[in-house]
Amino acid sequence: MSEIRLEVKNISKNFGITKALQNVSFNVNKGEVHALIGENGSGKSTLTNMLTGIYTLESGTFILDGKEVHPKNQVEANEEGISIIVQELGTLSGLTVAENIFLGHEDRFVKFGIKNTKAMNREANELLKKYGFDRIKASDMIDIYNFEDRKLVEIVKATYFNPKIVVIDETTTALSQEGREELYKHMERIRKEGNTVIFISHDLPEILEKSDTISILRDGIYIDTVKSADVTEDDLKKLMVGREVTGDYYRSDYGEKVSDEVVLSVKNVSVPGLIKDVSFDLHKGEILGFGGLSESGMHEIGKAIFGASYDRTGTVTLADGTEINSIPSAIKHSIAYTSKDRDNESVVMNQSIGDNICLPSLDNLCAFGKILSGKKMKDFSNKFSKEMSVKMVDTNQFVSELSGGNKQKVVLARWIGKDSDIVVLDSPTRGIDIKVKQDIYQLMDRMRKSGKSIIMISEELMELIGMCDRIIIMKDGMTSGSLDRNKDINENSLIGMMV
Ligand code: ADP
Ligand code: MG
Repeated sequence: MSEIRLEVKNISKNFGITKALQNVSFNVNKGEVHALIGENGSGKSTLTNMLTGIYTLESGTFILDGKEVHPKNQVEANEEGISIIVQELGTLSGLTVAENIFLGHEDRFVKFGIKNTKAMNREANELLKKYGFDRIKASDMIDIYNFEDRKLVEIVKATYFNPKIVVIDETTTALSQEGREELYKHMERIRKEGNTVIFISHDLPEILEKSDTISILRDGIYIDTVKSADVTEDDLKKLMVGREVTGDYYRSDYGEKVSDEVVLSVKNVSVPGLIKDVSFDLHKGEILGFGGLSESGMHEIGKAIFGASYDRTGTVTLADGTEINSIPSAIKHSIAYTSKDRDNESVVMNQSIGDNICLPSLDNLCAFGKILSGKKMKDFSNKFSKEMSVKMVDTNQFVSELSGGNKQKVVLARWIGKDSDIVVLDSPTRGIDIKVKQDIYQLMDRMRKSGKSIIMISEELMELIGMCDRIIIMKDGMTSGSLDRNKDINENSLIGMMV
């Protein structure tokens, strides 16, 4: 019989009128990877944020190894043996790697009021080495590292002191395959040591493979806890959504001819160190996919088209001959772009949903010449947030309060509102649950049918295969192959070109 590590008892939490959690109770055992699943906004992060002292616990109790715990912040949580790798960026800019790893626990390195930075760096470097992340250096500023490396630093920070419970909140979507393998290794180690991982992910195959037990939340309500070995992916979808979900949510058409009309022509585009001599045409009404390993250069293609790569050479030309060389010229000529790094590059977190939606359309939202009209902005953001069914209190709510899927909907609402003809979507469904994914796929299909052209960059081969008229594979900064839409393509047909 497994031993109980954590009892979650009658936890409730409201944010204004949003009931994020309602009387949630379940148990988590020692020595298990316990997955927590549910659609966007079902309350997973709220629950684990309370367990780890990020949010205040107001109603209900957490009992760890038989003793009630009520951490008021992350440092207190760590002292109780609980840590978290958060969904958003969890390291602090302006500090070194070592300072981030030991954040809140620096006193270990302070003697007579003096911080022994050398000792701290030495210990951090030893940890990084032990974890196999030697390419990250303790004394470097964290800022020089990309999102993925910063997530690796978080893995060290959250696990080096052998906590009893480690929460991993949607970390895998931010990681490449290698990064994921690293994370899985540490999850397995924690489990073998008799400790517990609470694992949040939208990737159901990954959940089934890596977890022992799965608890399901739906709209803030606890649904069930099941053994991974006893359920299928479809069972889980049904538990999450509360109804049967058909597996088929991609486009179902095959053999439709794409228009010959070229709307955007990319010629000999290079960005030093990232992409080399990339050329392709995008057609009217086409969904053109880009796939590859995360470092293949495919993410740079989106930036290059949107005028966001400053040292780009080569040309990006519209049908009428207009050359796109900067973000303002891209926006002016009806090109939209959503970044893979949604939180840092796409949304303005500390602004309202309304302001975010209106941002690229401000020129059209003026009254009497150059003065912004509050009413026009309000109507505009209401209309497009509704069209995208953003789950929110109202458009005055800050974007920072929304779940990942809803943030993405705000980003898309912005470009739908702008009525862009060419839409570049980098990883549009990253970290997003099946229902919102389905909404986004349907939106893409509608846009395609209405003659808009889409570039979809994705690390998920299945969605490229399911949604695109054509897929270009990138490898080492160059295009390495291309496939037209076809029933017989499978992941292996693409992987061969990627590696
Ligand atoms: P999940 O992690 O399952 O996607 P969350 O726990 O982030 O879901 O969100 C649950 C609900 O609580 C959502 O409706 C979300 O908008 C709301 N919510 C979460 N955090 C906040 C916050 N800081 N302020 C207001 N509402 C929030
Ligand atoms: Mg979450």
